Amino acid sequence: MMKGSLLYEGKAKRVYHVEGQPEQLILSYKNDATAFNGKKKDQFEGKGRLNNLITSKIFDYLKQHNIPSHFIKELNHTEQLVAKTAIIPLEVVVRNVAAGSITRRLGIPEKERFNPPLVELFYKKDELDDPIINDQHAYHLTDISKEELDSIKDKALEVNALLANLFKQTGLDLVDFKLEFGRIADGTIVLADEISPDTCRLWDDKTGEKMDKDVFRENLGDLISVYKIILQRLEEHTCAK
Ligand code: ADP
Ligand code: UDP
Repeated sequence: MMKGSLLYEGKAKRVYHVEGQPEQLILSYKNDATAFNGKKKDQFEGKGRLNNLITSKIFDYLKQHNIPSHFIKELNHTEQLVAKTAIIPLEVVVRNVAAGSITRRLGIPEKERFNPPLVELFYKKDELDDPIINDQHAYHLTDISKEELDSIKDKALEVNALLANLFKQTGLDLVDFKLEFGRIADGTIVLADEISPDTCRLWDDKTGEKMDKDVFRENLGDLISVYKIILQRLEEHTCAK
């Protein structure tokens, strides 16, 4: 596996071409943490490794449950091999419990449960601070059809049910998370990007403690020790199976 040239450097990952494999990419997880659209920044030794290993475990689990994704395999501690996609510039957020932007936007108190879960769409555009959009906006701003958007939302809810169940077995309440989808070469839409404590809210189901990037956003403690606990609990769960 020969790493090719750098295709893109984002806030949390670098994306590389793969020599001789034009349909594949290497995602390399960085130690950088950013919040509030890059306005708050820091670096945490070991974060790239933790998010790579956690994301790999989660995508493996989703693969076992027949969720098509870009994920091919973990390459080493900080890198994974994925199928190259044309990312659809949408952030698909699923919420089981109110937290974060929805509490500010709609005045819903933190911890209020959504039953059924909510799906929200945000336009992935840093210059605009990723604004919330509706379906009509998504058809105009991206190349997806109504059928494709409906199936993306169904898929997001299916992933939510699977992940909520997985995390529940590790003593964590899945509050909300963000997904991205992309098109592979034949036009099929698959789940892409990462699923980690950077992109999910996870609360300890006994203590209610925040065990995700809010530790960094809200200065609640040591991010690395919290992410280590998430990985450890996922490893124990996979070993116990
Ligand atoms: P950001 O771009 O928001 O700063 P990252 O630092 O995580 O985020 O950068 C990773 C980039 O790689 C993101 O823009 C993401 O959409 C993109 N990406 C993730 N998976 C794939 C894939 N399979 N194919 C192409 N791009 C991908
Ligand atoms: N999220 C993300 N990337 C983003 C925006 C949100 O991964 O660019 C995740 C975030 O970690 C949380 C969920 O999506 O798990 C919902 O985020 P919210 O809309 O509440 O925004 P926030 O207040 O976290 O910025």
